Amino acid sequence: MPGFELTVSETEAEMSCAGAELRIIFSPGRVQLVQEEEMVPAAPSVLVTGATGLLGRAVLREFQSSGWLVSGMGYRRARPHLLRCDLTDEDAVRAAMQQLKPDVVVHCAAERRPDVMERNTEAAVNLNVHATSTLAKEAAACGAFLLYISTDYVFDGRNPPYGEDDAPSPLNAYGRSKVEGERETLRHCPGAAVLRVPVLFGEVESVTESVVTSLWLDVQNVSEVSLDHRLQRFPTDARDVAAVCRKLAQRQRQDPSIKGIFHFSAKEQMTKYEMAVAMATAFNLPSNHLIPLTEQLPAAILRPINSQLNCCRLELLNLSVEPRAFTSAITDCLWPFTPDKRWRQTVFH
Ligand code: NAP
Repeated sequence: MPGFELTVSETEAEMSCAGAELRIIFSPGRVQLVQEEEMVPAAPSVLVTGATGLLGRAVLREFQSSGWLVSGMGYRRARPHLLRCDLTDEDAVRAAMQQLKPDVVVHCAAERRPDVMERNTEAAVNLNVHATSTLAKEAAACGAFLLYISTDYVFDGRNPPYGEDDAPSPLNAYGRSKVEGERETLRHCPGAAVLRVPVLFGEVESVTESVVTSLWLDVQNVSEVSLDHRLQRFPTDARDVAAVCRKLAQRQRQDPSIKGIFHFSAKEQMTKYEMAVAMATAFNLPSNHLIPLTEQLPAAILRPINSQLNCCRLELLNLSVEPRAFTSAITDCLWPFTPDKRWRQTVFH
């Protein structure tokens, strides 16, 4: 028989046994037995910002399938079951955080398109920096663990690979705003973590949602198309990033020393040209119309040539995941956009 605990006072006795509680109330002429609700420990809760975006959708699914209580926040694309909140509205953020009181916040919302950032800097800084600052203050106030998603664009790409302690040196406004977002996160919420990731792809709503899946349009083009073969990238599946976020959050609940900066990246180094050729090969499509472009074009926006991330901190803590191989992961994400969706059955079965 499992052990039980008995606490007795003048007016009542409390007995707990195997997680169930029984309260005995003594009053003149009467002894009342009250069975309290089963004391099942509640599942931890997570709030995902940017839950309508490429990474946020994957993060939401990952935590959901691991039994967490999840709340997703979106803005323009917020659908039923998601909260609509403009993160640049401080009062709205405060109200949402005070109402939800999540154990963990995974902050995915951002303006992540460098060209939009350059054209509309004020609005983007409001979201990437000021909203992050508000969220960090609120996370600290309610004792939540904040995980801020950042980027390899915090580095200039001249001296890869970059460790977690290397000094950021962003080349463009997007990179600068993400560095500032990181600083605001760690300044207002000292127990928070920052996870830097490289270019992402995943289960997209349209192929243009990610710069990687956008190459599918070039692959299908019948005429010649020049693709960059200079900038080195490490295309990473958002589902792998989501798994890392969940592992970090889970470990942090037992070990508050899990804080500060982490890197996660897939291992395959590819230019845009190489990604497109890999897609064409995977789908048995011609690739001789794809032309590698090795010269540097005069560009309005500077981008790092190779901002490879050294991910050893996550690996040493056993918090990493084995990144999916590019070819199988990208075919998985692109098959819904193939003209004949039966292709999947003919190839995989
Ligand atoms: P995304 O697909 O562009 O999604 C952006 C998200 O931000 C959407 O859910 C959007 O909501 C939300 N959002 C925009 N304005 C908002 C506002 N005012 N208030 C509240 N939410 C707002 O971005 P992602 O690719 O998933 O990126 C996620 C994170 O990863 C970002 O921090 C980004 O910097 C980082 N990252 C991305 C990549 C990449 O290649 N995608 C690479 C490295 C790092 P609505 O659409 O509902 O308005």
